[in-house]
Amino acid sequence: MSGSQIFIRSIGTSCEGLGIPAYANFDLAAAAPPENLTLLIGGTHGNEPATVVLLESFFQSSAWTALDGCPTIVLPLANPDGYKRGSRYNARGVDLNRNCGFNWHAESAEPPGPTPWSEPESQALRDFILAWRPAKIVSLHWALAELDADGPQSTALAQAMWAALDDAARRPYRLRVTELGRGQRRLQETYAICPGSLGQWCGYGLTYPDATAPAMITLELPYDPHAASRPDALPDAHLDEVRALWQRDSAGYLRAVEPGIHAMLTAACRFLQNH
Ligand SMILES: [Zn+2]
Repeated sequence: MSGSQIFIRSIGTSCEGLGIPAYANFDLAAAAPPENLTLLIGGTHGNEPATVVLLESFFQSSAWTALDGCPTIVLPLANPDGYKRGSRYNARGVDLNRNCGFNWHAESAEPPGPTPWSEPESQALRDFILAWRPAKIVSLHWALAELDADGPQSTALAQAMWAALDDAARRPYRLRVTELGRGQRRLQETYAICPGSLGQWCGYGLTYPDATAPAMITLELPYDPHAASRPDALPDAHLDEVRALWQRDSAGYLRAVEPGIHAMLTAACRFLQNH
């Protein structure tokens, strides 16, 4: 494996025929999925451009080159039609992060699609995950400012990513983990939030043929990268506010958050690599 080489393919196509690109530090034509694979996902919501830019900068960084021996795939743009429009949804107006086939709800607050997995972008991602069986999945969103671990199997990975940040880099975030086992009643509280999300499917609904389940982290980028601490509650308009900040000074936002994001992604890729 050569860390300086990038292998690319498309995992499928959007409603409007755009490719959904995958970048890897190993040959994606390989016959078998590598052990302890890490999958990094951005751009599920097309109006969260920082998630796309930060993943593209990651696979062009020295941190990526240094990942030798840690097989990693990056899908920076899971919703290319939405990104093109600056929309949260895909071209059919569906929220792809409510369209997954676990705990899917027709009455979801965000449009979940007519049925679970109804959208070509969701199907492509599902089939890619089932084929490659990543041990670790990190999905980037904007901007609830937290590291969110779905399922008890994800706690240790979230803690390793948190440990990769120094005190200053942690300030704009909070860490949320669960020690609850699958199927316990208190999970209903978890399930009420973001039904049909990728996090819930991967964290609670997905088991591979070898009976393992992936560690699933939703990495919500900072709302205010210079905050002294992450407030208990963010303003309802947090996404509009961070988008306005991005339009004023995207370079400043990136400069503030990129070191911490790259450190956490590196920690995720390296997690359990020598076991
Ligand atoms: Zn999002």
